[in-house]
Amino acid sequence: MNLLEKEELIKVKAEELEHATPEEIIRWAVETFPNITFACSFGAEDVVLVDMLQKVSPSTDVFYLDTDFHFQETYETRDKMEAKYNLEFVRVSPQITPEEQAQQFGEELWKTEPNQCCNIRKVEPLTRILSQYDAWITGIRRDQAPTRANAKKIEYDYKFGLVKFNPIADWTTEDVWNYIRSNDVIYNPLHDRHFPSIGCEHCTRAVMPGEDPRAGRWSGSDKTECGLHK
Ligand code: SF4
Repeated sequence: MNLLEKEELIKVKAEELEHATPEEIIRWAVETFPNITFACSFGAEDVVLVDMLQKVSPSTDVFYLDTDFHFQETYETRDKMEAKYNLEFVRVSPQITPEEQAQQFGEELWKTEPNQCCNIRKVEPLTRILSQYDAWITGIRRDQAPTRANAKKIEYDYKFGLVKFNPIADWTTEDVWNYIRSNDVIYNPLHDRHFPSIGCEHCTRAVMPGEDPRAGRWSGSDKTECGLHK
């Protein structure tokens, strides 16, 4: 399918998928684009989607970007999920180690040039892995941030050059936690310690009552996204 055909298909399906359940969207996505992958960051939305994928299409590749800077709790969540679902997450890592990064760009690049740090440890590895696929699935939701408010359930990702599915784009935080509780899904214990959004340890803090759920990401800077989602 060439780009024009994909754009036409997306146009036709966008409205229909808007009203479909996440499981229906995933089923249609994996049937239409067998060469598809899911990007898992082990946040609440992503553990929901891993659980759904295991029920709908357990052979679909699931990868995670290992920045080398995740919380220990995040790595433990990965290990527990691999054991529960008998699956192996594809580990995608940066081209340079944290030590090489410090030598080449200076210590604590996440403080001096966080965009460059994210480019090295997230955007380049994501670009590399996505170049192998025709479509990807993400856990982004419209109410997570103004930058995500217009996310469609299916769209063409011009940044990375493939079709993108956001099956729970219209879910609320409550929907996510209802699914986790009713399906006994493993989740990152940091969520119980006031970390609604979890990224690298260097750039994530707990939020205070009443704060925006993403206020704990790159706190103190004007950065709000890694560069993975437009
Ligand atoms: Fe670096 Fe922080 Fe981005 Fe992680 S979130 S890659 S530590 S700047």
